[in-house]
Amino acid sequence: MEKLQLNETLKNGNSFREYIQKHSNVDPSSCYQCGKCTAGCPVSFAMDYTPRQVMRMIQLGMEQEALSSHTIWLCACCETCSVRCPKNIDLAKVMETLRIEAKRRGMVAERNIDLFADLFLNSVEKYGRVHEMGLILQYNLKTGQFFKDANLAPTLFKNSKIHLQADKIQDGGAVKRIFQRVKTQGGEG
Ligand code: SF4
Ligand code: SF4
Repeated sequence: MEKLQLNETLKNGNSFREYIQKHSNVDPSSCYQCGKCTAGCPVSFAMDYTPRQVMRMIQLGMEQEALSSHTIWLCACCETCSVRCPKNIDLAKVMETLRIEAKRRGMVAERNIDLFADLFLNSVEKYGRVHEMGLILQYNLKTGQFFKDANLAPTLFKNSKIHLQADKIQDGGAVKRIFQRVKTQGGEG
């Protein structure tokens, strides 16, 4: 893990902190660095910076470090941190806000995770639910891992866990309208 200069105060510290506050509806200043979020996070062992360190980066205006971190993409959105925080800080929402901002600026540190999320949402928008087979094929093709997990396919087909044909839900229009509303409000497609 790279060493952080946590006592560093950047010129644009206030504006980045305020930006995150505005878009997440969470006040990063109220974090008192107790570390309960990190202690409960199931994937902190794999992160380059712990959830607590990400909060500190926001407090200090270290936007380049926060937005280019792998942590914000490895976050599983499980909300354990949000539930455990003694200051009621919704850290999962902060992570989501950082991901959106990183993507907006073209600073995605984990391209395959971002690709998977996009393909997943595209499938839900198209069929009203995920078509696993299509998702696997597109992901493998776009990441160049053509035969990734191919050995599992026979068992998955045999147990009807994946299907060649996509199952559509009855009112797919309702799901499409939800996606349309999100896009109208400025969300990503
Ligand atoms: S649990 Fe809450 S107050 Fe404690 S370090 Fe994490 S975000 Fe900050
Ligand atoms: S929401 Fe993300 S940061 Fe929070 S505990 Fe879960 S994986 Fe960790």
